[in-house]
Order: sequence, then C-alpha cells, then structure tokens
Amino acid sequence: MKISHHPSEELLVSYASGSMTEPVALVIATHLAMCPACRRIVADAEATGGALLEELQPQILRPDALNSALERLNNTHGAPAQKSRSNFGAPEPLNSYLSRPLDETKWIHVTPWLAIKPLTTRGGTRAQLIRSAPGSGVSLHTHRGEELTLVLQGGFSDEYGHYGPGDLQTATPETQHTPIADMDSYCINLAVTDAPLVFKNWSVGVIAKLFGF
Ligand SMILES: [Zn+2]
Repeated sequence: MKISHHPSEELLVSYASGSMTEPVALVIATHLAMCPACRRIVADAEATGGALLEELQPQILRPDALNSALERLNNTHGAPAQKSRSNFGAPEPLNSYLSRPLDETKWIHVTPWLAIKPLTTRGGTRAQLIRSAPGSGVSLHTHRGEELTLVLQGGFSDEYGHYGPGDLQTATPETQHTPIADMDSYCINLAVTDAPLVFKNWSVGVIAKLFGF
C-alpha cells in the first residue's frame, strides 16, 4: 500500500497526547493501522511526552499524576475500548465499530450512487462510512468545519490529487472541491466532520441536510 497523504504532525501529536474526541481518534487510529510512517511519529511523540512528564514530576505534579498520565497515554489515545474481538477484515480499531464485513454493510442510500453508515457522534463531531459508486462524484462543496476523509477501499480524485487506500485528506473551510470516485470500484471512506458541508447547488444541499452530512 503506497500512502501519499498523511495527517498533519499537529494531528498526530494531538493523538499521542490523548486529547482527541472519539470520532477523530477513530480516523487517526485507523490511518495508523495502515501507515507505519505515522506510527513511528506517534511513538516518538509518546516517548518525548513520557520523558517530559518524568522530568516535571518531582516539582509540580501530584504524586499520582505521572501514573495516571502514563496510563492515559498507554490507553487508546481517546479511541474507544474494543467493543468486540470480531475480525471483519477492516483495520483496527474500525473493526470494533462494525457488525459485519465492509462489503456486507447495511448502507443508508442517500442517492442511487451515494450511501452512508453512521458509526459514532460526539459533541457534534460525527464519524461515518461513505460509499460512492464507481465514477460518481460529490457536488462542488466547501466545509464549515474540518473534515477528515480516510480511504479504506477504492479511491477518489479531486482538485488536490488522487487518494487511494490509507490516504487521508484534511479539508478545512478554505477547501473547495469536487471529489470523484475511481471508475473501477466502489470507493469506501471513513469520514469525520465537525460541521455540515456547504453545497454550491441548493438541491444537493437539501438532500445532504436531510441525511445529516
Ligand atoms: Zn501516515
């Protein structure tokens, strides 16, 4: 798997510190399961954070603070505890959110070519699977908040390049794009958004609002 698009270092360090909400931690943890390069960055950040805590501990931390902080680091970085040990062929920790393999997922059809599967929502930030039919596009849109899109199967292209399995795209309010799925297979993404998308075409916007994009 050749991965060209990675989370920012800021996101990886934030993940290592355990300060992310569950949906964001889920998408980063799933990218890490697919990307050895980012796993190394997170391991370095954890080592640096642990050393820093050890240095600070005698002066300013409560006696139990170091242990509880290290325990937090050793936990799952804000990602949820494993809900099941099932193996549905998806990277961990995504498996824990599935009740069946990706290709047997019960999709909610938004349009004939676009389907979703909500996974989890925390404080307005939602994680969902999005499946696009081969060659289909999502209308030109911008973002009110931040959106992280991780390709699990297939791929898509937009104004910023091509994204294949393991690639993660970070979209911000400045991002305006028209993603189009590859022609040869369904594209399945894990997407996390903290605010609805803003569509340039009002009728697409109405559909998106109905389905909670
Ligand atoms: Zn990476």
